[in-house]
Amino acid sequence: MRAWLQTGFGGPEVRRLSEVAAPSPAADEVIVRVLAFALNRLDVLQRHEPVVPGMAVPHVAGMDFVGEIVAAGADALRPLVGSVALIDPVVSCGHCEYCLAETPTYCAIFQTIGSTRDGGMAEFVAVPARNCSVVEVAADDRDTLARLAAVPVAGATAWRGLLSAGKLQAGETVVIPGAGSGLGAAGIQIALAQGAEVFTLVSGEAKRLLAETSGAQHVIDRSTGDWVEKVRELTGGKGVDLVWDHVGGRFVGQALRATRTGGRVVLSGTTDGLDTVLHLPDLYQPGRSIIGHGSYSRADMASAVAAFAGGSFEVVIDSVWPFEQLPEAEAKLESNDFYGKIVVLGPSFSLVPETTP
Ligand SMILES: [Zn+2]
Repeated sequence: MRAWLQTGFGGPEVRRLSEVAAPSPAADEVIVRVLAFALNRLDVLQRHEPVVPGMAVPHVAGMDFVGEIVAAGADALRPLVGSVALIDPVVSCGHCEYCLAETPTYCAIFQTIGSTRDGGMAEFVAVPARNCSVVEVAADDRDTLARLAAVPVAGATAWRGLLSAGKLQAGETVVIPGAGSGLGAAGIQIALAQGAEVFTLVSGEAKRLLAETSGAQHVIDRSTGDWVEKVRELTGGKGVDLVWDHVGGRFVGQALRATRTGGRVVLSGTTDGLDTVLHLPDLYQPGRSIIGHGSYSRADMASAVAAFAGGSFEVVIDSVWPFEQLPEAEAKLESNDFYGKIVVLGPSFSLVPETTP
């Protein structure tokens, strides 16, 4: 089968379209024929260097994908064959004390599909059957498939950060950075559906204009001044109830200062930096909290998928690319000149005949 195989660390040249052996399923696994996958920042970060412990080359990236189940490892899984499914990339046992406490990253068998085991940038992927959420969509409906591929990671992470960890309530105020990022766009809609008042942050006039259509009540262009001051001004000097920080780095300190007395910052990611310096009185004097959101749970994933199916959460798509143009799609992600998720279609939508597993 064909796969985008990463054999080293560096620029686009380390990921090549290659002919590799098709996977065969273990007893608890199914084989998924990839129909579409969405790019995530981690895909590109780990092309440059390993980020998640256990990531190694040769590697097939791609955490976010939708596909048709074409084979099953055991007779009991046979009924799944022929279904189209979204894949939860978090692989864990589901029943140990860590899994039950919704901290699957400590599970003895923890892996992430597309990060520490092979993912969706391929014709076929082997995944545990329990990671599949069957969805009602035709295997040739490329528009719906492209949108579905963008649901799992952004939707479940936003659900986790804002609702499960952030406890966002109707009527509360929340800052969500990066209206044009996959996480930001998902977060805005989930927060609005919850009945919150959303302040979103963008950089530059073009993204500000796009963000005006997001439904967020306030759009703040970070490139024109101090966004923390602007948030405080718009809230009568109080600050917001919650900042959903999915970027990390220097933003954490700013996020703290943007919250009210007793306010909270949920930390969901570190794409802008692994380290930061905090002015500690900003944390303890006003009684603010910084909450680490941990891994999202299977329940967070199910909630996001149900919200998408029910129409209360829609993904924002920047562009959709054919399988062979993955390097161009990745370059677009690296350029930061995009708004919404960047999606790549599976090889069955390309002009090159597919092979069989
Ligand atoms: Zn476990």
